[in-house]
Amino acid sequence: MLFFDDTPSSACTTASDVQDLAAVDQASPPTDQAPAPTPWPEARRHVIQMSGGLGSFFAAVRVAERYGTSAMTLLFADTTVEDPDLHRFLRDAAAFLELEVVRVCDGRAPFDVFDDVHFLGNSRVAPCTKFLKQKPCRDWLKANCDVADTAVYIGIDHFEARRTPAILDEWKPWRAGFPMCDPPYWDKDTMIAECRALGIEPPLLYKLGFKHNNCGGICVRAGMTQWRHALKVFPERFAEAERREAEFRAKHGDHTILRQQRNGLRRNLTLTQLRQRAETVQTSIFDPDQGLEQTGEEHTSGGERRSA
Ligand code: SF4
Repeated sequence: MLFFDDTPSSACTTASDVQDLAAVDQASPPTDQAPAPTPWPEARRHVIQMSGGLGSFFAAVRVAERYGTSAMTLLFADTTVEDPDLHRFLRDAAAFLELEVVRVCDGRAPFDVFDDVHFLGNSRVAPCTKFLKQKPCRDWLKANCDVADTAVYIGIDHFEARRTPAILDEWKPWRAGFPMCDPPYWDKDTMIAECRALGIEPPLLYKLGFKHNNCGGICVRAGMTQWRHALKVFPERFAEAERREAEFRAKHGDHTILRQQRNGLRRNLTLTQLRQRAETVQTSIFDPDQGLEQTGEEHTSGGERRSA
């Protein structure tokens, strides 16, 4: 049962009353709070953690511009649930850089990890990141690179730069660099335009309204707004996530990917509840997005807080 009315217009509430907690977790502080750019590590070998998004592609381009590509590796951790167009984009990006993509893959999908570790990923803790992305990449680095002579590059941009200290810690003993945190500071629209200018079609998910190109638009770190968007754009993917969440709850109790808050009280929100509420709104006289605003939900930046 929803904590607040799932009817579309029962009452206007404010963002301070009802909040999508994933949106709160992911809200970006003003960029003037961002730390100063981190100097790139001194290294002979350069490994780009290719997420499939534009940030990591342009990080690779900037590394190539500084060092060339002869000692560069494009490392991609496949979660097995990526949008098919991500693989097309990776091929195009690699062809542009005249490199091959090195793919690592745990073999499981995010919900398989949640089942295995008995923990449902959410905006605060996402074990899928650790097991499907970080660990396979670190295993590859350990087997193929010298920690003393290798830099790892992550594609987060200036607008996410507040995350760099935590990512530097996560990657230790490997040294990380953040080329897109350096000027010129590019937002996503600029990256899309620059990508087209290079003759490469940007990943489809951006065109479909997603802020990140990962896990096919179904990310446990996203907030309600992205999940609702996924329901509209990819109803079958949403249905599969809804089914897997329900299975997890049947085994492990009242855990949910999403939470919401009203008047300081936090409640779980299942994907089934979110869908039912969206369907109620859609059959009403109200526009769904108008309904969202009336409930005072905050729009989320969505997506993974990479290093996923
Ligand atoms: S993109 Fe989201 S769902 Fe996919 S591995 Fe990263 S945190 Fe997990």
